[in-house]
Amino acid sequence: MINIPKGTKDVLPFDSYKWHYIENTVRDVARIFGACEVRTPTFEHTELFLRGVGDTTDIVNKEMYTFEDKGNRSITLKPEGTAGVARAFIENSLFNAPQPTKMYYITPVFRYERPQAGRLREHHQFGVEFFGSSSPQADVEVISLAKTIFDRLGVKELSLNINSIGCKSCRKDYNNALKDYLRAKLDGMCNTCKERFEKNPLRILDCKEEGCKAIVKNAPNTVDYLCDGCKAHHESVCKGLTSIGMDFEVNPRIVRGLDYYTRTVFEFISTGIGAQGTVCGGGRYNDLVEQVGGKPTAAVGFGMGIERLILLLESLGLKIGEPYSPDVYIAPMCEDAKEIALKLANELRKNGISAEFDVMDRSFKAQMKYADKLMAYFVIIIGEDELKADKVAIKNMKTGEQESVDKNRLVEYIQIKRYRQE
Ligand code: ATP
Ligand code: MG
Repeated sequence: MINIPKGTKDVLPFDSYKWHYIENTVRDVARIFGACEVRTPTFEHTELFLRGVGDTTDIVNKEMYTFEDKGNRSITLKPEGTAGVARAFIENSLFNAPQPTKMYYITPVFRYERPQAGRLREHHQFGVEFFGSSSPQADVEVISLAKTIFDRLGVKELSLNINSIGCKSCRKDYNNALKDYLRAKLDGMCNTCKERFEKNPLRILDCKEEGCKAIVKNAPNTVDYLCDGCKAHHESVCKGLTSIGMDFEVNPRIVRGLDYYTRTVFEFISTGIGAQGTVCGGGRYNDLVEQVGGKPTAAVGFGMGIERLILLLESLGLKIGEPYSPDVYIAPMCEDAKEIALKLANELRKNGISAEFDVMDRSFKAQMKYADKLMAYFVIIIGEDELKADKVAIKNMKTGEQESVDKNRLVEYIQIKRYRQE
């Protein structure tokens, strides 16, 4: 028996409706914000992520699925969604169209991580990327898009944490202040953070090690070191969020795990699903397009983990869509009725009504039991009497009500009873 690889999951037929529900919801919310879907390849040249995501990040240092293909090219399975979208934006000259370019994606993401609840080696993200606008309004739009999804799904228990990590120029001042603060405390920090100290001290604020977390508790805050432009941007974002009634908290410890962020960063965090509480994270990344070879282009976006979202909805006891059940199960009582069952199913399906019938040679009693298990809305029974009268008996499985209906009136009957009365 060959097992599924560690850190991956099957979505089984009786559960996939949850995914459809979430995918339909996020697609519709993207639509009302004017974002169109972009699909990029599952793998890219490794170079893209080295340049885009940054070589001081956990993703690039430890988590990438990188291999050589048969043509000796270094290839990497997407460890996040944004770099590929930025590449597509540049390569297809999307910047030539009137801006902004508003895109979304639903994609598998691959990271070699230690698997645990809410942390997989293949997970899926819904992501949004708005390119071409440096306005704080775009940040607000993107954050409010994520919030609209949570509202539609009925999630109230998430807190929005935002921060600003400034731009290239003011981050230098901040990095110096942070290093001054940390220098004497280096001995108490993990080895990764010791390395980060010189290369990218900001990353230390994102460390999950308890020792490092304790040390950074009193570190200086990025918001106190912002240049005038970054400060004004941050204030406008906060003002915009307030004006549409969104609650948030400015959390100076949010810096995000990827190198490409500038100015706004944010996370939607739940306390209900354990350590892996960040369901959605994003921010502005004005330097990314340039870093991967395009003209400087302002951009803002987020990634939302679908598995974590499902865990969250389940933990809150929320309904995640409707499982499949047929409109009609057709149960012939005798041999002669089987052909009628086949023809009827065909006719119903042509009219968009879902219909199933016995293909397991079950007894009539077993067919009724099976229809019950399938949670069929109606069962159509065809026995000797029905055959003679050219009718069928149709039973509403919820109410138990049963009627005799002409075969040629069946579609209309089901449409009225099933759909117009619901
Ligand atoms: P974390 O801090 O939990 O490692 P991250 O900062 O690496 O998260 P992002 O790169 O921002 O996460 O990814 C966006 C979202 O994707 C996360 O907020 C989370 O919901 C989800 N996600 C990230 N990594 C995983 C994973 N290994 N398994 C499942 N979901 C994940
Ligand atoms: Mg991570």
